[in-house]
Amino acid sequence: MDEKARVESVRISYAKDQIEVLWKDGHGSRFHNKWLRFNCHCNNCYRFIVGQQRINCSLFPDDFPIIDAKVNKDEDQLYVEFNGEVCANHNTVLPLAFLRRNCYCDRCLHKLIDDRKMHFIKPGEFKLQPLDYSTVKGTDGGLFKVLKAVMEVGICYLRGVPTDEEFLEEFAVTIGPLVDSTYGRKFMIHDKGVKDSVTNTREYLTFHTDQAHYESELGVQFFQCLQFDECIEGGESIVADMFQAAEILRQESPDDFRVLTRVPCTFATIDYKRQNPAYYETRKPVIEVDYDDQIVAVHFNTGLDATLRVRENCVMPFYNAHKKLWKIITRPELRFTHRMVPGDMLVFNNRRVAHGREAFVPHGGTRLLQSAYVNVEDFRSKYMVLGRKLGHDVTPTKIGNRSSI
Ligand SMILES: [Zn+2]
Ligand SMILES: [Zn+2]
Repeated sequence: MDEKARVESVRISYAKDQIEVLWKDGHGSRFHNKWLRFNCHCNNCYRFIVGQQRINCSLFPDDFPIIDAKVNKDEDQLYVEFNGEVCANHNTVLPLAFLRRNCYCDRCLHKLIDDRKMHFIKPGEFKLQPLDYSTVKGTDGGLFKVLKAVMEVGICYLRGVPTDEEFLEEFAVTIGPLVDSTYGRKFMIHDKGVKDSVTNTREYLTFHTDQAHYESELGVQFFQCLQFDECIEGGESIVADMFQAAEILRQESPDDFRVLTRVPCTFATIDYKRQNPAYYETRKPVIEVDYDDQIVAVHFNTGLDATLRVRENCVMPFYNAHKKLWKIITRPELRFTHRMVPGDMLVFNNRRVAHGREAFVPHGGTRLLQSAYVNVEDFRSKYMVLGRKLGHDVTPTKIGNRSSI
């Protein structure tokens, strides 16, 4: 029996709208009548198949007071009776372990959020440990190492991967299907005179999250280095944790932080002349916070931000706040700089980690990277399922999908 689920006492509140449970370890929980009824675990109410709807909440009266509540003989279930029950011969039953696990007191809710917070590498100590592909190749345990790194710090640096073009897709689909985008299903990054995007030039690219013109940016991104000739000057990859930068802004300049959570920025790719004409446009705040005031998304792409059109009194506050965030993102101590060599591959969460590139002078050489994306939720699902299969204690930490759980 779950020790935490042992009950000391159960009582009905004076207003008969809640049950107060005192657990043997001293913790106290309160559960509302509707919450209890709508989470009933009896054979008629419990959802045995994903997607099944067993209880029609709309049929219940606005209020149905609790008239009885008792723990069963085996002390593992709570039985509750209501005045106003709409199902004939119904007894509401809830396992005590379920109740304890889902307690929604402030302390338990705080823990739920806290357990799923991102952990940042301390500024100035942002050293990426390379993971040799030979230690990863072909095993669940190896793949899990990659997923764990992306989950924990947002990025994994693999070295020694094959430099053939097929490898990237073969590897990526072990995490999830490739997701199409305005760049295509997978794409090359090179300076070959194709001027459809600044990516395919030798210009400096400041930190950005890719594809901000979508309602939801693409998730996990791969950069596989196929060729990077030694004669090339510059061209280093740079990455920085946007969530860390946003948290720093919140601490250092709370008013500016609030501005960026409130005033939206428009991101767009509108180009009717390119090979695949495109109209993508969306408006969203640069930083999104949720019900618990947790940062749940950061959108930063100064190459895709469209003309600012917000209410007059928001224009200057937006520019001032955006400048502050930009300056934090580019702080040297928050940055990882890496000159890729053929066989290197960076795997990172594009919802969390911004990337960029130093300008380069080719001196006749070639810099050729291949890239693709996998949905961020497919990635986290793979992490949880694989971790569980391998017997690891895995936690679904935040991934930047607009949710802190
Ligand atoms: Zn039931
Ligand atoms: Zn609690």
